[in-house]
Amino acid sequence: MRVIESVEEGRKLTQRFLEEVMLIPDGYKVMSCIQCGTCSASCPSAYAMDYTPRQIVAALRADIIHEVLVSNSVWLCASCYSCTVRCPAGIPWTDIMYQLKRLGEDEGIIPRVKKGHELATVFNSIIDKYGRSSEFKLMFKFYLRTGLFKALGQLGFASKLIFKGRLGLVSHKIKGISGLQKMMVAMEEGK
Ligand code: SF4
Ligand code: SF4
Repeated sequence: MRVIESVEEGRKLTQRFLEEVMLIPDGYKVMSCIQCGTCSASCPSAYAMDYTPRQIVAALRADIIHEVLVSNSVWLCASCYSCTVRCPAGIPWTDIMYQLKRLGEDEGIIPRVKKGHELATVFNSIIDKYGRSSEFKLMFKFYLRTGLFKALGQLGFASKLIFKGRLGLVSHKIKGISGLQKMMVAMEEGK
């Protein structure tokens, strides 16, 4: 796990992030943020975020994007697009949140609160293998990484779902999974 310790390192990382944001369609508009706070007010996850979308722009301007990466913010983004459609400056916020996730992964920067990151990691590994999500596997693997005892509290609810056929125990691969896996490898190599 990488830790950013110097001001210079933080500045370089912020610069890298800004360059990547410029490659996103309409990404350049991030420079036009007027700090109105509409994005944060529209965000259903903002109440729990260490840095709200508006504050992330402020962090960008202060060259401390690494502080955002170690916070819980990006992994709480629900990709709902409210910030994107309401921003008066037309800033593609949801895409920027994804870019932050990619940057954190590339740089090996893990957030202090790991649950959101762990959930995304497990979800991606299941999609890689099966081509679709499997709720049972997702929750089992998630609790395995974050604390198996906490799963005990969910057993009653899970057994009701299993009994009613709403939670399958067996995972099935999609047709053509090998094609999907080849595409994923090609995308990784094309980075
Ligand atoms: S809504 Fe747009 S302009 Fe307003 S603070 Fe958020 S990003 Fe900046
Ligand atoms: S896309 Fe993410 S950051 Fe934007 S409003 Fe939705 S949850 Fe918040």
